[in-house]
Amino acid sequence: MQQLVLASNNAGKVREFQELLAPFHFQVIPQGELGIPAAEEPHPTFIENALAKARHASAASGLPALADDSGICAHALDGAPGVYSARYAGIDGDSAANNQKLIASLQGQADRGAHYLCALVMVNSANDPEPLIVQTRWYGQVIDVAQGDGGFGYDPHFFLPGLGKTAAQLAASEKNQISHRGQALRELITQLQIRAQST
Ligand code: IMP
Repeated sequence: MQQLVLASNNAGKVREFQELLAPFHFQVIPQGELGIPAAEEPHPTFIENALAKARHASAASGLPALADDSGICAHALDGAPGVYSARYAGIDGDSAANNQKLIASLQGQADRGAHYLCALVMVNSANDPEPLIVQTRWYGQVIDVAQGDGGFGYDPHFFLPGLGKTAAQLAASEKNQISHRGQALRELITQLQIRAQST
């Protein structure tokens, strides 16, 4: 098993990455288990924040690291909350407060389109000059009334018209098949395989 530090302590994300990476013989260790504090996320783009988090976790652990930066981007709000998704309702804002703010911000807006975005970065070392990088989107609609109790974060309000359900009504395995994070991880694994074959 290859040890890989995950630069997140978000229980929902940790669970999803562990499930998705288990078949590829990675042992995913959340950075909190190694006593590594969360990195700053000062950047305006998902990809810059993901890279900063991965470098920070690798520097602190001496191990390869994986980091994602993700969020929900509402089209009528010019992509907000975007990189601020986790702290949309304030630094101590919980998911309920974040969802309430998103619904309030979209009142009167006809366009309910949104996408989740996942930027995913893997580094072999803190100063890795060739990080693996992918960025993927998952499209849906923001609905006012929450449905379902699976997933986390904005999932109960993220409706998938093609399935007639919210992300919170999907089984974990179904969500992993189609989500922004699932897509990103599969792309990253393809890149890892290509790299392994070429070296
Ligand atoms: P990060 O940990 O800084 O990347 O913040 C990501 C935030 O985006 C989370 O705290 C959630 O609010 C939101 N988010 C990202 N992915 C998902 C998802 O799959 N479901 C629900 N919310 C998500």
